[in-house]
Amino acid sequence: MVSVVENLKAVANEIELSRGKRKIKDNPPVTLIAVTKNHGVEMMQQAIDAGVLNIGENRIQEAAEKFKSLNREVTRHLIGHLQTNKAKAAVRLFDLIHSVDSENLAAAIDKAAFSIGKIQDVLIQVNLAKEDSKFGVYEENLQTLIEAVDALQNLRLRGFMLIAPNYSEVENCRPLFSRMYEIFVEVGKARQNFDFLSMGMTHDYKIAIEEGANMVRIGTAIFGERNY
Ligand SMILES: *Cc1c(COP(=O)(O)O)cnc(C)c1O
Repeated sequence: MVSVVENLKAVANEIELSRGKRKIKDNPPVTLIAVTKNHGVEMMQQAIDAGVLNIGENRIQEAAEKFKSLNREVTRHLIGHLQTNKAKAAVRLFDLIHSVDSENLAAAIDKAAFSIGKIQDVLIQVNLAKEDSKFGVYEENLQTLIEAVDALQNLRLRGFMLIAPNYSEVENCRPLFSRMYEIFVEVGKARQNFDFLSMGMTHDYKIAIEEGANMVRIGTAIFGERNY
């Protein structure tokens, strides 16, 4: 039996240990997003009852079903890829969309947000390792996308999201996390409300935090393996 409560305690402990190992100047707290995708709503509710304040889902329809039955307010994160034709549903369901990676998608979210009178918080997903199998903007196109998002009235750019490659040697992720943090700090210099660096999942969150992540997205370490 998976004990969500015990697992959450262990993860919270690891997060603090990793914060203690940071070499970066300031030591911001880390927001834990419990990733409930492919788990039932009971698991989601268990985590929330145990004090989880942030929930991550990667599919619109699954999230819509599960959010219906929640009995407490939580911050809702869309961490998966978003198709432009689902922007309207995403804007209704999620507080923060982590996966903006094109001008088209940004424009669709902006339009959807406008239609319901919302300013939508978003992150830009960056594909630093240029993996074909992953979404995200390449570093050389990042500045253009930032400017495009800035030009949209109903979006607020809050930071970046990175999914590191699934290296068998997890230390290999470290230079990517460190580079992403560098870009985050550099871009953030000239901005306000630019405060979230979402990187790190079960296998690599400790290293991500050491390198400056202040938002981690963790599923397996809390809920156990997913059966797809
Ligand atoms: C599934 C998922 C996670 C969580 O992965 P775990 O390895 O189970 O912690 C984090 N981020 C994204 C984008 C995901 O799709």
